[in-house]
Amino acid sequence: MTILLGCIADDFTGATDLASMLVQSGMRTVQLIGVPDEPVDIGGADAIVVALKSRTIPAEDAIHQSLEALSWLQGEGAKQILFKYCSTFDSTDKGNIGPVTEALLQALGADFTIACPAFPENGRTVYQGHLFVGDRLLSESSMRHHPLTPMTDSDLVAVLGHQSEGKVGLLPFDVVSQGPEAIRDAIDELRASGARQAIADAVADEHLIALGHAASDLPLLTGGSGIAMGLPDNFRAAGLVTATQRADQLPRVNGLSVILAGSCSSATRAQIEEFPGPSHKIDVYALCRGEDEIGRALRFADAMLGEEPILISASASPDDVARVQERFGREHAGATVEDALASIALGLRERGVYRFVLAGGETSGAIVSAFGIRGLHIGRAIDPGVPWTASLGDQPLALALKSGNFGGVDFFTKAFQCLDNLEVEAG
Ligand code: ADP
Repeated sequence: MTILLGCIADDFTGATDLASMLVQSGMRTVQLIGVPDEPVDIGGADAIVVALKSRTIPAEDAIHQSLEALSWLQGEGAKQILFKYCSTFDSTDKGNIGPVTEALLQALGADFTIACPAFPENGRTVYQGHLFVGDRLLSESSMRHHPLTPMTDSDLVAVLGHQSEGKVGLLPFDVVSQGPEAIRDAIDELRASGARQAIADAVADEHLIALGHAASDLPLLTGGSGIAMGLPDNFRAAGLVTATQRADQLPRVNGLSVILAGSCSSATRAQIEEFPGPSHKIDVYALCRGEDEIGRALRFADAMLGEEPILISASASPDDVARVQERFGREHAGATVEDALASIALGLRERGVYRFVLAGGETSGAIVSAFGIRGLHIGRAIDPGVPWTASLGDQPLALALKSGNFGGVDFFTKAFQCLDNLEVEAG
C-alpha cells in the first residue's frame, strides 16, 4: 500500500490544520511527529503529514530535516509533495521557506513550483503578490510584532526572492481567476522565463482549488493548508482515491475521559469556567515549591473518574502566572507544569483513561511525547482546526490536541459529545 500525497509541515499545529483539511476533502490522513526512525504502521492512509519544528531554526537544519522527511515520504510511494508553512508566510530573514523549497525542488529533480499561503476562510488572501491579513496588508497586521518571525514586507515575490537563489515570479489574479488551463499556460511561460517559483494570487477558495487542479503534474507544491484544497480531486480523477470507508473514521477507543489543560490563554480559561463536570486545579506555586501536586491530582481522579469526563488544569490568570514566574523563573515554571501534567497523564492512562482532550500547544507536545506517540490518525473536526485523532499502534488513545486560543467556550463538552456520536455512527 503506498500513499498519494506526502506533506512536510514546518510546525505541529500547522500540520494538524493541513491534515484536518485533507480528511475533510476525503483523503485518509496520518500525521507523524517528526521523521520516524523505525517502521510505523500507517494503516491505509492516502496522505501523510510529517510535522517538523523547522520554522525558526537555522536554514541548514531546516533543509536537512525537510530532505529527511522527503526521502521517507518517497519511500512510502508519495506521488506528490506539499511543503506546508504558515498562512502568514512566517519566516526569518534567511528563510526557511525559500531555502527549503529550493532544496526540495533539487532533490525531486523538479524545475518549478508555486507558493501560495492564502487561506481565505481565515482572512489570509494574496493579491498582486501581496499578502493580506483580514483587511490589512501583512506588514500592517500584528505579524509586524511577532516575537520570532516579524513580517514587515507584504510583497511576497520580494520576500521569497530575498530567501531564494532562483528567480521568483507571479501568477497574478487575472490568470488564476480564469481557471486551471490559463494557470497551466502561465506556468509554462514562467518556466520559459527562467522562474523557479511563483507566488500565486488567491482571494477565494475557488482560486485555491483552480491552482490545485492546475498543479496536478507538479512534483512539489508549497503553501498554507488552503493550497491542498484542489489536490484530492486530482487523485480522485485519476482513480487513485478509492476509500470504501469515510476518511474521518477512527478506530473505536473505549475508556475513561479526561481533559488536561496547561494553556493559560483567555479562550482556554473561559472553557474551563464553562465546564460543568468535576474539576481540579493544580496549585502551581505549591508544585514549584516541591509539594506533591501530582499525587493530589491523581487522588482527585481516583475519587471522581466515572461515566462523565473530568477536568484537571494548571491554567491560571495572568497575575497568578506572573507571580509564579517571578518567584521560580518563566522557563522553570513552564517546564515544571508540563512535566507534572505529563506525569499525571501517564498515571491516568494506568487508571484506564484512554480518551483525552489536551489544551495548550506546548502542553500537548509534552504529553504526546511522554506517551511515546509517533503519529496520529486524523478524524473529524470538533471545531475548526481541532480534529479528534487516534494514536497509531495496537492500543490507540483518542486525543484532541487544542492549541490555546482555539475552540468555542463549550469546547470540552462538545468534544466528548462529538466522540460519542462518532462511535454511535461507527456502530
Ligand atoms: P498555549 O497553546 O495557550 O500557548 P501552551 O501549553 O503552549 O499553551 O503554553 C502554556 C505554558 O504555560 C506551558 O509551558 C505551561 O506549562 C505553562 N503554565 C501553565 N499553567 C501555568 C501556571 N499556572 N503558571 C505558570 N506557567 C504555567
